[in-house]
Amino acid sequence: MSDLPKQPEGLVYLTVTQALKGLRAGDFSSRELTAAYLKRIEEHNPRLNAYLYVAGESAMKAATKADKQRAKGRKTKSKLPLLLGLPLAVKDVLTVAGMPATAGSRILEGFVPTYNATAVQRLLDGGVVILGKTNTDEFAMGSSTENSAYGVARNPWDEERVPGGSSGGSAAAVAAGLAPVALGTDTGGSVRQPAALCGLTGLKTTYGRVSRYGLIAFGSSLDTVGVLARTAQDAATILGVMAGFDPRDATTLESAAPKIKLSGKFELKGLKIGVPKEYFIEGLQPEVEQAVRAGIAQLATLGAKISEISLPHTEYALPVYYIIAPAEASANLARFDGVRYGLRVPEDKLFDMFTHTRGQGFGPEVKRRVMIGTYALSAGYYDAYYGQAQKVRTLIRGDFERAFEQVDLIAAPATPNSAFRIGAHSGNPLDMYLEDVFTLPANLAGVPGLALPAGFDSQGLPLSLQLIGPHFSEERLLQVAHAYQQITDWHTVTSSAAMDAQQ
Ligand code: GLN
Repeated sequence: MSDLPKQPEGLVYLTVTQALKGLRAGDFSSRELTAAYLKRIEEHNPRLNAYLYVAGESAMKAATKADKQRAKGRKTKSKLPLLLGLPLAVKDVLTVAGMPATAGSRILEGFVPTYNATAVQRLLDGGVVILGKTNTDEFAMGSSTENSAYGVARNPWDEERVPGGSSGGSAAAVAAGLAPVALGTDTGGSVRQPAALCGLTGLKTTYGRVSRYGLIAFGSSLDTVGVLARTAQDAATILGVMAGFDPRDATTLESAAPKIKLSGKFELKGLKIGVPKEYFIEGLQPEVEQAVRAGIAQLATLGAKISEISLPHTEYALPVYYIIAPAEASANLARFDGVRYGLRVPEDKLFDMFTHTRGQGFGPEVKRRVMIGTYALSAGYYDAYYGQAQKVRTLIRGDFERAFEQVDLIAAPATPNSAFRIGAHSGNPLDMYLEDVFTLPANLAGVPGLALPAGFDSQGLPLSLQLIGPHFSEERLLQVAHAYQQITDWHTVTSSAAMDAQQ
């Protein structure tokens, strides 16, 4: 077989690039690859709880079809879809026709959508095989998956710890070799933070780059679809297929379909990287800071010019986000009333049916946000909270605009700490909210960000470096990350030894 990693698990720790190469070369079939993942899911998912739904039968059917299509294409020499036969996992806030969509909530129990999210549809057209739906904090509200109504997902590097969230199921799945790549969503950090905590490359896209059609809405002005992958190259491959204008999402941009080609010898000479001083705050785990500084130094060895910059309104990002996101969520979640989808608590009076369905269907964090959001939007408080927050949001966006007049990219920590213990923050929502201090600003500004593996702490837990770029700079971000991954090997270390040690 061509350059496959020599590990007992064989196929399941392949990168997307390796998997596609193997499929094309005929080293293995999509059926073999898909079956390898399904077997590993069967073995490890009962503990890790990364998947809420495993699409065993339909995945094998899709794999068989992909193999037939490839065989036929070989004979007729016709062009085949780029991702033909590649297994992929989907966060359970995106719709896949015929598969349950719970958004991690009881209120959507039993809901099976009849249509595909646009991102999912494009990937299916690109040839992917969907392995299943991954665990998430309820309606993507959280940083640990502890808010999932279906139980916490576990971090494969240490199963007593969280995988991050809200795309924690996707992160745990890719990190544990239960999928080669997965979709996530990032409203305030939910792709980058779990990627950081699980040792993955996590791409948060520019707002408007990937369609939100079929994404169960949380904060509509913040929600973005992203990728959790092993490498920048893999994230680029998936992004290239799923991005672009969609008439069903008016916020997608006409010119947004990127053709990303990562070259092996990307020069960082002349590239200006800014390091925001506001991101090195008290409470930052010293090992995170060391890894971030070491990562930045490595980018400098590739020719990048490093300078300190200031994003002066950074400290307001957290309070602003926790007004805007709940306000939008309170409006978006009004549709879950027992009439249209999922759970219904039958009552004689219609109003009782509404309130009891919502009372039983939503978990405590979702209720907290609906209450905060409703309050912030109510007459008399609107100007003081929501209106004010929108103004400060503009200042935060301005910080980035000014910074990107001086530098091409920003390098910073992705999270204040490595993976924390299950339960460590569950008593105090504010502690949990602090997990996203370094990721929220990019969502408020709508710019893309990327978390990439940058080391391990003394407990053997992954550490991460975040890169942030101007709107629609995914190509540059991914190229820099790719260049970094050519000279470092943090991203090649798999959780397999850590998982074995825990058995
Ligand atoms: N942790 C943040 C929150 O709870 C961000 C979540 C996300 O990006 N979906 O709102």
